[in-house]
Amino acid sequence: MKTIQDFDFKGKKALIRVDFNVPLDEQFNVTDATRIEAAKPTIDKILADGGSVILMSHLGRPKGKEDKYSLRHIVKKTEEVLGREVRFVDDSRGPVAQSAAAALQPGEVLLLENLRFYKEEEAGDEGFAKELASYGDVYVNDAFGTAHRAHASTTIIAKFFPDAKMFGTLLAKEIEALEKVLKNSEKPVTAVLGGSKVSSKITVIENILDKIDHMIIGGGMTYTFIKAQGGRIGDSICEDDKQELALEILAKAKERGVQVHLPVDVVAADAFDNNAQTQVVAVNAIPDGWQGLDAGPESLKRFREVILASKTILWNGPLGVFEMENFSHGTISLGNDIAEATRSGAFSLVGGGDSVSAVKQFGLEPKMSYVSTGGGAMLEMLEGRTLPGIAAIQE
Ligand code: AMP
Repeated sequence: MKTIQDFDFKGKKALIRVDFNVPLDEQFNVTDATRIEAAKPTIDKILADGGSVILMSHLGRPKGKEDKYSLRHIVKKTEEVLGREVRFVDDSRGPVAQSAAAALQPGEVLLLENLRFYKEEEAGDEGFAKELASYGDVYVNDAFGTAHRAHASTTIIAKFFPDAKMFGTLLAKEIEALEKVLKNSEKPVTAVLGGSKVSSKITVIENILDKIDHMIIGGGMTYTFIKAQGGRIGDSICEDDKQELALEILAKAKERGVQVHLPVDVVAADAFDNNAQTQVVAVNAIPDGWQGLDAGPESLKRFREVILASKTILWNGPLGVFEMENFSHGTISLGNDIAEATRSGAFSLVGGGDSVSAVKQFGLEPKMSYVSTGGGAMLEMLEGRTLPGIAAIQE
């Protein structure tokens, strides 16, 4: 893997594609600087070598130049995080951007305006990529969140740096973490797949089946499997047209020697409401008028045994409706088990939007080996696809 660690940036201008697509409040204050903080190690290393840095990012989904999506709003926060001055140019192409880049001295940081102010960015326009490329001597991609997009700044630009393109620290760590699970994993490998729907996880399940030993299925997905096997699921969420698919997955898993663990009991509620009445019932005997919203105690006990015996754990999707306190217990309990396994030496990777927010919400983030920052990009890697932003560096 070509990373910035093996490169001396002294006297070089590094063009870094970062993911500074951060949330802003109504006064345009950054409300969560995680993504800026995540890019800091890459920026620091380049500056420490005696190089300079040109930061390129998108923010939101602007239609043309829209001030509310200007990266100007994040300059102050970026300066705070980096602990140094950040210059900003209100364009990413043309003479202003060009001369700002040309004037850049070692140790200095320049942030270009939102790349998506030009439709050429998302169109992967070669002319735009070439213009961006002309500002720097080296191209660094450190934006995992957009690595699955063949945009001008994430992919196309790399061809203008045949001998000077590399991964930043963050992107390198993401790739490494995923490879630890998908390629160089220590056995037994367990995947926990939760969340609401089978349909959104099916390609992931198919791709990982021959890489894992155990599959724990939880969350709303459960009920499609249970109904397909003839169970009574009451009013639980179910994708009727995916029942056949669910049976196929179970058959394939059996063929490949993967042990599938579905909940045996659930916390059922008489409404999709935190204050609903609840009862613990067998997963395949949920009364009409009731819906399963969390894993039950016996299921959690069994899941715990599987997790504690695992050496590699992938977690994608919550075990219940964790946003409601009364149905968050299963997700918290599983998170704690994964934390315990991690403490005893297992490698744990958490990814996919909702499990990441669950892990953050319950303070479990520091207890996991790796929490992925790129939702869509991570899912596509788990689906076995080659991400264009990664391939462009490796080619
Ligand atoms: P996904 O985006 O597919 O990973 O699904 C995450 C969502 O699934 C979360 O918002 C959960 O609240 C929801 N979820 C988990 N378990 C259930 C359930 N038993 N019934 C309905 N929704 C659920």
